[in-house]
Amino acid sequence: MENWQPSTLSWSFSIKTHFNACKRRYFFYRFWGQDPKLKWKLLELRNITTLVMLRGTVTHQVIAESLSALRDGLPVTLESAKERVTEIMLEKLRESYYRLWHVNNRPPGRKISEFTNLLEHYYGFPDTDQRARENRAIALACIENLFRSELWTEIASTDPQTWKATDEEVFSSFDLDGIKVYARPDFAHSHDQPTIIDWKTGSPGEEDREQLVLYSLFAQWKWEWRPYETKLCAVYLHPDLMLDTFTPTSEDVSRVTKLVKASFNEMMELEPVHEKADISRFPPTNDPEHCRWCSFQGVCEDSPLRRVITD
Ligand code: SF4
Repeated sequence: MENWQPSTLSWSFSIKTHFNACKRRYFFYRFWGQDPKLKWKLLELRNITTLVMLRGTVTHQVIAESLSALRDGLPVTLESAKERVTEIMLEKLRESYYRLWHVNNRPPGRKISEFTNLLEHYYGFPDTDQRARENRAIALACIENLFRSELWTEIASTDPQTWKATDEEVFSSFDLDGIKVYARPDFAHSHDQPTIIDWKTGSPGEEDREQLVLYSLFAQWKWEWRPYETKLCAVYLHPDLMLDTFTPTSEDVSRVTKLVKASFNEMMELEPVHEKADISRFPPTNDPEHCRWCSFQGVCEDSPLRRVITD
């Protein structure tokens, strides 16, 4: 740790979102190890998640487990899937509540990243129990909407030999014109037509289509699928099931490729060469709303949220 160096710069939509929302947050996340006094605290904060993110993780995990079971010819019922949602959420809430992520509490040999640390617990939000109940209800509704849908019946009737990826596979990266890009399609199959599916537990976002187009490039790299012949489908699971299905055009592919390169170059401009990264080049956001849900709020001296609280 003496000669700590950041990992090789890579790109993903979530890194871009953090970079654009708050450069200071990006600084804490990327260069966490360069300050010997702060590094263990930053490592702890880096591992924080939120209940909204947790419900997404749990929903994805239960869908992935259900698909694996179907692939293995095991029975999958709505009831058993909903029970899994509750079981996993309770387990993660317990980990966070009892701070099992902390070095004093976690079993020997286990990493901090193996345990859930919720922002709502860490920063003592007063309505955590209520928020936990609401997010569990949304996760259950997501599973119910999917299992009762024609889409699920269709998927279950296809030959699992044509299934390509599930959430259980390791996080995957690919090379996009020399840039290491992380992209992980939730599910893909080649039944009828090459198809990539992205499960969504939140509302439609501006970049959902761009993310799917990027997955088509991942599929080209990994399975040699032609992007212009790949069906892309965002499946919004809540409040009602809604599908957004399209096949990318050459303009879509070119736009997303340019977006990745431009965003990556912006990040590269702030990379230190031989010295430590200079925090003053990573300004804090002006929007306190970003800070409310930022895991680094406890160490961020320039946070507008802190100014709001102390003024
Ligand atoms: S607390 Fe606010 S200003 Fe500080 S890193 Fe987080 S989002 Fe950025």
